Amino acid sequence: MDKIDTLIIGAGVVGLAIAARLSHSRSVIVIDKETHFGEHTSSRNSEVIHAGIYYPKDSLKQRLCINGKVLLYDRCQRLNIPCQQLGKFIVATNAEEAQQLARIKQAAHNNSVTDVDFASTHTINQHLSDLTVHSALFSPSTGILDSHQLMLSLVAEIEANGGIVATQTEFIQSQQTAVGFTVTMHCNNEHYTLSCEQLINCAGLTAPDVMAKITGSSKTQAKAYYCRGRYYRYQGKHPFAHLVYPIPNTHGLGIHATLDLAGQVKFGPDTEYVNNIDYRFDDAQKAQFVRAIKQYWPGLDPNRLTPDYTGIRPKLDRHQQSDFVIEFEATHGIANFVNLMGIESPGLTACLAIAEYVEQRL
Ligand SMILES: Cc1cc2nc3c(=O)[nH]c(=O)nc-3n(C[C@H](O)[C@H](O)[C@H](O)COP(=O)(O)OP(=O)(O)OC[C@H]3O[C@@H](n4cnc5c(N)ncnc54)[C@H](O)[C@@H]3O)c2cc1C
Repeated sequence: MDKIDTLIIGAGVVGLAIAARLSHSRSVIVIDKETHFGEHTSSRNSEVIHAGIYYPKDSLKQRLCINGKVLLYDRCQRLNIPCQQLGKFIVATNAEEAQQLARIKQAAHNNSVTDVDFASTHTINQHLSDLTVHSALFSPSTGILDSHQLMLSLVAEIEANGGIVATQTEFIQSQQTAVGFTVTMHCNNEHYTLSCEQLINCAGLTAPDVMAKITGSSKTQAKAYYCRGRYYRYQGKHPFAHLVYPIPNTHGLGIHATLDLAGQVKFGPDTEYVNNIDYRFDDAQKAQFVRAIKQYWPGLDPNRLTPDYTGIRPKLDRHQQSDFVIEFEATHGIANFVNLMGIESPGLTACLAIAEYVEQRL
């Protein structure tokens, strides 16, 4: 049986970021059940570098988003990972929504995102003249990035340090030993075991199930809820040079206009709870989608909207926003085990800060 310092379950952006960081000082293997790394949430999102505006002060989401944003821009610049700090407008389309902008600005400032401010009439006329805007906030530190290139850079870092990213390798179970864990994995139609000192659960949507297998189900209360969102791509001319977001709702940030690095605009995601990890695109509710976009862009031509992709948010609570869960021995009682669950947005922005946080506490 082979032995390794740290085994990480899940090669999404979070597992890869932690592995890259730890690989400088430890032997590391990241396993993923899929054919390639990052096939789930990490490649089915808006690819936005969030500023850290909305999250409750001192929550993990707030702290790790703000720290992660800085680390991410720095990494993109150092390693030539495509990214653009485009900035985003949060738009109120009527007086009622406008009242919420003041609250959002206050929340941003409380979170130390002090560059968020009301857009002047001149700015609105210059950048949002084709949109229905009563008033708007502008967040200059929001941006977009190529998440696949980010993950490739993390894989390269892991491998350069002698670490391994093993795809088509599924975590089955683990047992605690005197010095760590014996982990059973499924690969090439066979079961393998590997012993490791540290075990880290970054399994994304199925993290609560993996947690239950590691701790024994009686210790696990967490349940995974799957909140699917669809994205439509817009073919043709559009008025967006910056990201445009409506006022956020309970489940997410609303159907926003995001640009990709080629300048093409996509709209999404909406919210729909589903029972399984099912990425099928249901085009039947396009009318609702069109209505939501038309609230801020009346000139939208619905015929130019084409189904693009879906992503699923790993929710731990159906009814309210919950924080990232990053648990160590003090919470679950298992030494050298780190459990990450509910890493929804802004997990992409925060990934490098999550890795730093995990390393410091290990
Ligand atoms: C619609 C949507 C939009 C979003 N937009 C943004 C955004 O604009 N900005 C932002 O910062 N964040 C955004 N996010 C959040 C961000 O995408 C996630 O926080 C991040 O990708 C989570 O990464 P992860 O590594 O935790 O999970 P994942 O990418 O899901 O990775 C988990 C991995 O674990 C593997 N796995 C699961 N079970 C096992 C097992 N038993 N054995 C082996 N491997 C296993 C899976 O195959 C998967 O590859 C968005 C999310 C969604 C859904």
